[in-house]
Amino acid sequence: MSRRKPRSTGAVHGIDLGTTYSCLASVNAAGVPEVVPLLDGSLTLPSVVLFLGADDCMTGEPARSQARSRPDDVCSLVKRRMGDGDWRFVSSGRSWSAPAVSSLILKALVNDAALNSGPVQDVVITVPAYFGDEERRATVLAGEYAGLTVLDVISEPIAAALSYGFARLDPGLVKGPVEETALVYDLGGGTFDVTVVELAERRVAVVAIDGDHELGGADWDEKLALHLSHAFRQAHPDAEDPLDDSAGAQALVLAAERAKRELSDRADTVVRVEHDGRRVDVPVSRTDFERLTAGLLDRTVELTRSAVAAARNRGLGRLDRVLLVGGASRMPAVAARLTSELGVTAELADPDLAVAKGAAIYGEKKAVERLVLGDLVTRGQLADGAPLSAAAPQDVDAACARLGEALGLTTERIRRTVQVQVLNVCSRAFGVLALSSITGEPEAVFLVHRNDRLPVAVRRSFGTVHDDQDTVTVRVVEQGGGAESERLEDNKIIAEASITGIPPGYPAGSEISIGLRMGFDGILELHAWHEGLADRPLTVQVETSAALSQADVARERAQVARVRRRDR
Ligand code: AMP
Repeated sequence: MSRRKPRSTGAVHGIDLGTTYSCLASVNAAGVPEVVPLLDGSLTLPSVVLFLGADDCMTGEPARSQARSRPDDVCSLVKRRMGDGDWRFVSSGRSWSAPAVSSLILKALVNDAALNSGPVQDVVITVPAYFGDEERRATVLAGEYAGLTVLDVISEPIAAALSYGFARLDPGLVKGPVEETALVYDLGGGTFDVTVVELAERRVAVVAIDGDHELGGADWDEKLALHLSHAFRQAHPDAEDPLDDSAGAQALVLAAERAKRELSDRADTVVRVEHDGRRVDVPVSRTDFERLTAGLLDRTVELTRSAVAAARNRGLGRLDRVLLVGGASRMPAVAARLTSELGVTAELADPDLAVAKGAAIYGEKKAVERLVLGDLVTRGQLADGAPLSAAAPQDVDAACARLGEALGLTTERIRRTVQVQVLNVCSRAFGVLALSSITGEPEAVFLVHRNDRLPVAVRRSFGTVHDDQDTVTVRVVEQGGGAESERLEDNKIIAEASITGIPPGYPAGSEISIGLRMGFDGILELHAWHEGLADRPLTVQVETSAALSQADVARERAQVARVRRRDR
């Protein structure tokens, strides 16, 4: 393999930090997004870490294939733990939070890319659309632990749609109307997202989202593994159940995953189960597999229907395309079921690589936009911090031309890159706790709702409870289940902050104004005012309960930095 010439460090790379596989992409000199191969030539890295000692680890395929011999030191599916502040993986006397384990996967990707095609510093990382505030912050932290500058996190279906939109508009590939409505069905290894998007030239607008981040291809593996263990026990009733032993269970799940993939291409397969000195060959047909897992597919269809209904409520009646992304959408039952359910032929859209490529397209937009903004500010044509839309179009054109000349690219290419536009919606409802006027008990009052267009800023008035109340505690809640519910137990309290030092003399019911703002990145901010302290509003960047303490972060940063990778 020959080394490529280094890229400019101004590049922004896109990273798909997947539950089961991860992938890194960048936009090449011709403006086309491409995946940067790993040193072994593969395009995706299994998101698996094997801890070999306190400061040594193995990542990717070698970690996965050695998993059987050291099941307690292997960490996989860590993405499902993102945002869970209490979860730790413990191995060789060290404990690792989900961002810390994820950072080792990021480091492996980035180090390979650096050796293959040049340094990686600024990145855009993708997350499932369904990720809430805590999971997004945890993802940013993983990037920081890996020494990266995370310019943004964007939703996987948006990235997939950007990548699809890019390919669709590539000269010679234009087919059908330029504006269309697409449903992106993204069934990855551990998460499921369904998103309805409007696609126009270089513009993706999310209309509705739904999903479940506890549902993915790994659940199909588990169902099949259960079936295999059952068949093994029937054949050898006196032997130990492979699922009762962690090495046996790992091996069975790996065999199930392999069989699942085989059944995407053929109607039958035979799985050999070896355990406790016994073995059995279990024939499995695609029909058997589909019957075993029908409930899982039904669940994705239910969520798909709910996203389509939400899009309809927003006035979108027609679906032009159904795009399948995420490796597990390769199972033939997925396309067949969606096609019959939605009346539109479901098509596979580069399922493993589309997300990383879309992130790279968005990353390039960020990089170029930064340079164009800098140029306009330097020339006094735009105030520092103002958005590009505030600049005069002719000034933007001139800045694009100057930048194009400096970088050796056409003005058109720069302009098209800057024009990439993404409009997103909120993935969950957010609000505050207030005492019910009927029961007197705390209940959730939602200010921001799922599918509200981002950025969103909402303000609502509440009243104090007592005369002379000197402190007001504001608790921010995030919708817990699939639908909004006022009940405290159905929601997650993600932050708590207080307005203190309210002067005496204000009666019960005096005004507290609460503002919630969510930026494009899905990260929430709270503002609160009491009428007596209007000149001193309380502004909190929501520090979620899942956030690690500063001491934890410092310790983990050092711990990650010490780790040596022993993959080869
Ligand atoms: P992703 O998170 O998008 O990389 O998807 C990974 C998931 O896709 C894993 O559960 C894989 O087992 C699954 N997968 C990959 N290829 C296939 C295939 N050919 N048929 C069925 N599932 C697959």
